[in-house]
Amino acid sequence: MKIAAIREKTVSLASGLRNAGIAYDAMTASAVVVETDGGLHGLGFDSVGRYGHGALLRERFIPRLLDAPPGGLLDGDGLIDPAAAWRIMMANEKPGGHGERAGAVGVLDMALWDLRARQRGEPAWRTIADYFGAAGAPAAAVYGTGGHYGADAADTGPLRASLAGARARGFRTFKIKIGGAPLKTDIARVEAALEIAGPGALALDTNGVWEPETAAGWLAALADYDLAWIEEPVSPLDYAGLAAIAGRFAIPIGTGENLFSFDDARNLERHGGLRPDRDLLQFDISLSYGLPEYVRIVRLFEGNGWSPQRFAPHAGHVLALHTVAALGLGMAEVALDAALPVGGLPGGAPVEDGRATLPDVPGFGIETMPALHACFAGLLD
Ligand SMILES: [Mg+2]
Repeated sequence: MKIAAIREKTVSLASGLRNAGIAYDAMTASAVVVETDGGLHGLGFDSVGRYGHGALLRERFIPRLLDAPPGGLLDGDGLIDPAAAWRIMMANEKPGGHGERAGAVGVLDMALWDLRARQRGEPAWRTIADYFGAAGAPAAAVYGTGGHYGADAADTGPLRASLAGARARGFRTFKIKIGGAPLKTDIARVEAALEIAGPGALALDTNGVWEPETAAGWLAALADYDLAWIEEPVSPLDYAGLAAIAGRFAIPIGTGENLFSFDDARNLERHGGLRPDRDLLQFDISLSYGLPEYVRIVRLFEGNGWSPQRFAPHAGHVLALHTVAALGLGMAEVALDAALPVGGLPGGAPVEDGRATLPDVPGFGIETMPALHACFAGLLD
């Protein structure tokens, strides 16, 4: 088996949504397809929130894979070996400075896992579990993310409708955005969402826009509500600020989605003051160099007393869903709007009491997600 071609394109993820930090009206992502000389395809798609990686893919990482020595990307069985490919992609890359390249490598890594699963004729969760020596299971705990700001932040109607629909579909834990409206408006949104989610089942995502003293003020105002977690209460790289919040407030903290490497994750573990009994680790697999790096991060935390159940990878991303199922992690995030390319579940997977069953199709099941599969138009011909 040889890689015959790798194609990529930048697709629009534009929408009218916004969070406390950014609007999505010009958001993009990269879609990549790895094609073998036998006509098999592996599909990869960026996570959401960091724009496409086209230049890095075209100039550095795709050429390295295509120029790999014969057999250099394969394991002993002649299957694509994503870890071997990862080492080839990362050749001559200096340590540190992890930024956009982590996402470029990550989206290719996803396509290579998809390809390996198709070569084995099985769902990606099983391929990933076998590769890393985990038991795996065809199901994953999930939570539903909605409640972005629309045109009128004070109108709680769309928020209620989104969460009520998800609750009826079987979701039991939910997340909404806060911090992008005045406190009084956001308190009303929190109360509306809590009515549907129920005690302890609503998380709040501030997207890292607060200084620690602002975060402390808001968390004091929210102290009487029974919340699941507060997400990125301070800037993603402000470890001391995070430690100050963790030391002062009992509410669980979720963070990590904007740290893109083992190095950054280790600094978070060392200096962020996080608590293994409650906090959530949300590193984004696709944006942080893909699975080889992500598994290193999981093992680092496990070695320091953390349960894999504390991992809840970022973004309604099918890669994260399969990885949660494969490695027995805590939860996968599901963007509730299935009309979004990164929304919904593969095959319209049923959710029962907060747990999604994955369809028995080869790879990540992108073909079963119409909005996502449409992003690959022109790459599969
Ligand atoms: Mg978030």
